[in-house]
Amino acid sequence: MKRELYLFNTASSKKECFQPVNDPVSIYCCGPTVYNYAHIGNLRTYIFEDVLKRTLIALGYKVKHLINITDVGHLTSDADTGEDKMESGALREGKTVWDIAAFYTGEFMKNFRDLLLLQPDLWPKATDHISQMIDMVSTLEQKGYTYTTSDGVYFDTGKFPQYCEFANLDPNALKAGERVDMGEKRMVTDFALWKISPKDKKRQMEWDSPWGKGFPGWHIECSAMALAYLSAPLDIHCGGMDHVRVHHSNEIAQSEAATGKPFAKYWLHGEFLVLDKGKMAKSGGNFVTLEALKSEGISPEAYKFFCYSAHYRSPLRFSWEGVRASVQSLSNLRKGIASLGSQGVVSQQSVQDALVHFWGAVCDDLNMPRAVAAVWELLKNNNLSGAEKLEAIKQADAVLGLDLLVGVQHVESLWEKDGYKIMFIADTQIIGPLRDVLVQKALQRKVARAEKKYGAADSIRDELQLAGVVVKDLPDGSTECMVENFDKAQAVLCE
Ligand code: AMP
Ligand code: ZN
Repeated sequence: MKRELYLFNTASSKKECFQPVNDPVSIYCCGPTVYNYAHIGNLRTYIFEDVLKRTLIALGYKVKHLINITDVGHLTSDADTGEDKMESGALREGKTVWDIAAFYTGEFMKNFRDLLLLQPDLWPKATDHISQMIDMVSTLEQKGYTYTTSDGVYFDTGKFPQYCEFANLDPNALKAGERVDMGEKRMVTDFALWKISPKDKKRQMEWDSPWGKGFPGWHIECSAMALAYLSAPLDIHCGGMDHVRVHHSNEIAQSEAATGKPFAKYWLHGEFLVLDKGKMAKSGGNFVTLEALKSEGISPEAYKFFCYSAHYRSPLRFSWEGVRASVQSLSNLRKGIASLGSQGVVSQQSVQDALVHFWGAVCDDLNMPRAVAAVWELLKNNNLSGAEKLEAIKQADAVLGLDLLVGVQHVESLWEKDGYKIMFIADTQIIGPLRDVLVQKALQRKVARAEKKYGAADSIRDELQLAGVVVKDLPDGSTECMVENFDKAQAVLCE
C-alpha cells in the first residue's frame, strides 16, 4: 500500500489524491528556451519538479519524465507576435541560432547537474521534432480546428468551447482585449500553430511545410513532443505559473482537439521567484544565474535549500541576505548530521515513526518548509539512536536531494584489548596497515600519558592530526579516532 499523495491540480483548483493513469507515471515539464542562461527563477521551477519526481520514486512509483528543449519558435510575446527569442539571441551574440542553442542547452544541463536534479528520461529538442509538429497541425486542419492567415496557420479557439475553463478565463474580459494585437486572428485567444517565415527577413531556422516555409508555434512544440513519447492522458504536466493562461490553455486545446482524449490528468504549476522590483525575467535582463551565486560562495545546494523555505505555490522573494541565511542554515544542518554517531541498532519501525511528520508534509502537496522543519525535529529526537537518525535522514534526502550524507563520517569499527578500546570513525571501514598503525600510535600515546610524558603524547596526537586523524579521549578511558579520509591517512602514516 503506497502512502497517499495529495497534489494541487490547477485543472480543478483543488488538492487531489494522486491516482495515476499510467505505469510508469508520465511527467512532462515545459523546458527552457535556450537563448540565454537560465536564471535562478527558472531553476526554482525545475527544483520543485524534481521534488515531485523524487517523491513519486520514494513512494514506489516508476516514472517516465520528459523535459523539452525549446530551441525555436518561442516569440517575445506569448500572443504570437514579436521576434523569435532564439533568433534575437543569435543576433545579440553574433552567432548562429544553432550555436546559441547548443551553448545554452549545455549551460542549462550544467545547472541541472549542479543542483543535483534527477535527469529526465528524455530531453527532446523542438528542432528534432518538426515532422511530428507538422503532422499534428495537419490533423487539426483535417478536423476543422484551424484557419490560415497571411502569416500562418492558427488554432480556432471558437471551435473548442471549453477553452476558457482551464485557466478560469473570463470570455467577456477577453473580448475587451480583442481591440489590441489581433492581427488577422478571429479571436484574441486563437494562437499560431505554424508561422510562415516573414518575406522581408531571412530566418536561420525554417522548414518546408504544407503551408509554406516557416517554423512551428511554441505551443504545438510541447504537445507534439509530449505525445511523441507519452500517451494521452499524461499523468502530470508541469511548468511555471506564467504558463497557465496561455501556453497550457493552448496545449490543452490543440492536444485534446487532435487526439479526442484529455491531455493530462494533473497540472502542477510553480510560483515565481520574485525580485523587489517585480519578476525575474530573462527577457528583462534583470536576472541572477546559478554561476553568479556560486561566485558569491553560495552553493547550488544552498540555493535549493533556500527554495525549500517557501511552498512551491507561493511566490518566493529573492534577496542576497535570504540566500546567505540558507547557506548558514544548511551548513548547520550538515554539522548536526556529521556529529551524529552511527551507534545503535536500526529499528525500521522507529525510523518510520520518526519520519511521520516528514512524509505528512511531503505528501501534503510537497510542503517543503514543513518537511525541512521535520528534518530538524528528527535530529533532536531523543528516542532515536544515531544510526536510526542517519537512516531517517538518508530516506528524507531521497526527496530533498541535498546529498546530506555525503562526507558524513558514519562507519564505526572497534578495536579492543585488555579492556582498552579504540573506536574508529570514518567514511569507510578502517582495515589493513592503517588500522595497525593507528592502534600502535594510540597505544604508544596511552603509555606516554600513563607515564606523564605529555609532550610525547601530544606529538603523537599532532602527527595523527597532520594525517587527518583526530584523536579524542573519552570519559570511559577509551580513545576515538576520527579519520577524515582513509586514502590520505594511509598515504601519510603507512609509507
Ligand atoms: P523559459 O526558459 O522562459 O521558457 O522558462 C523555463 C521555466 O521557468 C518555465 O517553466 C517558466 O514558467 C519558469 N519561469 C520563468 N520565470 C520564472 C521565475 N521568475 N520564477 C520561477 N519560474 C520561472
Ligand atoms: Zn510547454
